[in-house]
Amino acid sequence: EKHTPLVLSVEGVTKSFDGFKAINDLNFYLRDGELRTVIGPNGAGKSTFMDLITARTKPDEGKINFHKDNGEDVDLTRVREHHVSQLGIGRKFQNPTIYRSHTVYDNLKLSLSGKRGLLHSLFYKESASDREKIYDVMETIRLKDHAHDLAGALSHGQKQWLEIGMLLAQDPRIMLVDEPAAGMSDEETERTGELLLSLEGKHSLIVIEHDMEFVRQIASRVTVLHQGHVLKEGSFDFVKSDPQVIEVYLGR
Ligand code: ADP
Ligand code: MG
Repeated sequence: EKHTPLVLSVEGVTKSFDGFKAINDLNFYLRDGELRTVIGPNGAGKSTFMDLITARTKPDEGKINFHKDNGEDVDLTRVREHHVSQLGIGRKFQNPTIYRSHTVYDNLKLSLSGKRGLLHSLFYKESASDREKIYDVMETIRLKDHAHDLAGALSHGQKQWLEIGMLLAQDPRIMLVDEPAAGMSDEETERTGELLLSLEGKHSLIVIEHDMEFVRQIASRVTVLHQGHVLKEGSFDFVKSDPQVIEVYLGR
């Protein structure tokens, strides 16, 4: 196993809602360039976990540290949500937040410029290197042939890829991706797996997923959440044959 430096450390984190521990003494470590899949039954705490990392929710207890590449640590329990994306932690929600009446190219341009603030993006004229960046992203998400199509006219799968592209345009160090294959055809699901695999090593990714076939395809290190706690962690083959995992998740 390769040992790149840590990019994220979550230690002893607990978060209750009305006395119910949605996250319970959670420990989680992500390495630079790692592709991690997080699975777990409904209510396991997966979305709350992402809310904690993105500072949408504050923990009751515990530490969440982002390790910048200059060696500095940022305490994510003490920053505001909008600062998290500026730090290079991007999140893709289940429902794409693309601009339907703009082209694929312009969506990516807006995302690229959005990094520099709203006022900037309103009057933004992209540079040659920005254009190059946008074409690189379109190549990665396989939408180059759709550069001038309206985002609203794309297929369901293409819309999801565009949103992943909008994250990529901002050069995130950590990408949080919630159920990227939901509602996709088999072919689109497979392409999404290929896309995420192509990002491994360049970005650190946490992918929440329900579709076990998809988890098998990306075959990353898997974290199984159960009742807000890490039940098991390891390769897909390791966790899928674990009796406790089968009981709480696979064997329902
Ligand atoms: P998952 O995404 O794994 O399905 P969630 O993180 O959404 O799980 O939820 C974990 C548990 O915490 C669930 O029992 C849910 O009802 C509860 N929960 C999540 N957010 C809130 C909230 N804002 N208020 C009250 N309960 C919540
Ligand atoms: Mg959820």
